[in-house]
Amino acid sequence: MYNKDYDLQSFLNSSPHKELKNVLSEIFPHRFAEFISGEYAAKKAHLIDSKIRDNILENIHNFKLTITKTNFGEETVTAGGYDLDEINPKTMESKLHKNLYIIGEALNIDGFCGGFNLQNAWSTAYIAAESINFKNKLSYN
Ligand SMILES: Cc1cc2nc3c(=O)[nH]c(=O)nc-3n(C[C@H](O)[C@H](O)[C@H](O)COP(=O)(O)OP(=O)(O)OC[C@H]3O[C@@H](n4cnc5c(N)ncnc54)[C@H](O)[C@@H]3O)c2cc1C
Repeated sequence: MYNKDYDLQSFLNSSPHKELKNVLSEIFPHRFAEFISGEYAAKKAHLIDSKIRDNILENIHNFKLTITKTNFGEETVTAGGYDLDEINPKTMESKLHKNLYIIGEALNIDGFCGGFNLQNAWSTAYIAAESINFKNKLSYN
């Protein structure tokens, strides 16, 4: 449902007697729908004019979050995974199984909250891809 393109006006037309926040809740989480509806949250969909529509779109496109803190111990990551001693960190290839590359959360890396796990996934994937690419080039020449 979230991967669809929506024409806001036709979407509003489909439920003219519903309150704006409830119509938008069909495609957004309820509290976010309420936030982007602003002062028009309780207004019926058929009463939404172009000015309000622009206001909603502005709230969606310019939605900003301020990160106030990270919580130690509250990160969401699968602890455990492939032992780091069994991996060549320069290539991410397994030392035990040739041509087997281990990356991201499949590794025994358990980062703190703050993007470290995502960075692990991206960086190790990059290293593995570069390494495989390099190996392939060698075998073609
Ligand atoms: C709720 C939540 C919040 C998080 N918040 C943060 C955060 O704020 N900061 C942070 O750094 N990290 C966060 N993480 C952790 C971070 O998202 C993961 O560490 C990271 O996405 C792992 O990347 P990955 O590519 O190793 O694995 P994944 O992102 O899990 O990707 C694995 C992919 O493989 C696919 N797959 C599985 N089995 C098969 C199969 N047999 N065939 C084909 N495809 C398959 C899956 O569908 C999935 O798309 C969060 C995790 C969760 C669950």
